[in-house]
Amino acid sequence: MITGPSGAGKGTLIKQLLDRLPELEVAVSATTRAQRPNEEDRRDYLFLTEEEFVRRIEAGEFLEEVEYVSGHRYGTLRSEIDRIAEDGRVCVLELELDGALAVQEQVGGSVTLFIAADVPELERRLRARATESSGEIEDRIQLARFQLEQAHRFRYMVRNDDLERATEALAALVERELQLAGTMARR
Ligand code: 5GP
Repeated sequence: MITGPSGAGKGTLIKQLLDRLPELEVAVSATTRAQRPNEEDRRDYLFLTEEEFVRRIEAGEFLEEVEYVSGHRYGTLRSEIDRIAEDGRVCVLELELDGALAVQEQVGGSVTLFIAADVPELERRLRARATESSGEIEDRIQLARFQLEQAHRFRYMVRNDDLERATEALAALVERELQLAGTMARR
């Protein structure tokens, strides 16, 4: 499970990680936020209306769900986790902090990784991405300051100041965890 502030480069790092470790698969989350121009429904997110999202909460379909600073909802569908497990693959979740803490508590054996970056760097990336309004960027940065202080609550932290170095560090940690899990399963 990968968490960290908005703009820390979680998405880019996860793509790099998947190229190296084909046994991994990312669970597609559901959200009520608007689709960005480069995104595809069901590939990047399952884009739902507020009504549909709430209906699925009430039906118990989510492992975890949160309302983010933007007021939009995000959540991990149990069906995604089951589908990936049935295919015999290892599930990767990309979550904001509260969701990651909830899953860490609920799912024994889950491994949590926190991706950190300096606040000025986060701000630069969010502005360069320009997918949020400037008010929303301010909110995300404010939240990032708080989130960076929470890094110690997760098993590992990787600082994404250099993409290549961070990818190496992340892949090494995940590989080691996969080996450990494999060793335990064979016992
Ligand atoms: P974005 O709008 O930039 O795609 O995502 C905003 C935040 O929501 C990011 O920090 C991302 O990690 C988080 N997020 C995406 N999907 C989920 C989810 O299913 N559950 C939770 N708790 N957070 C999510």
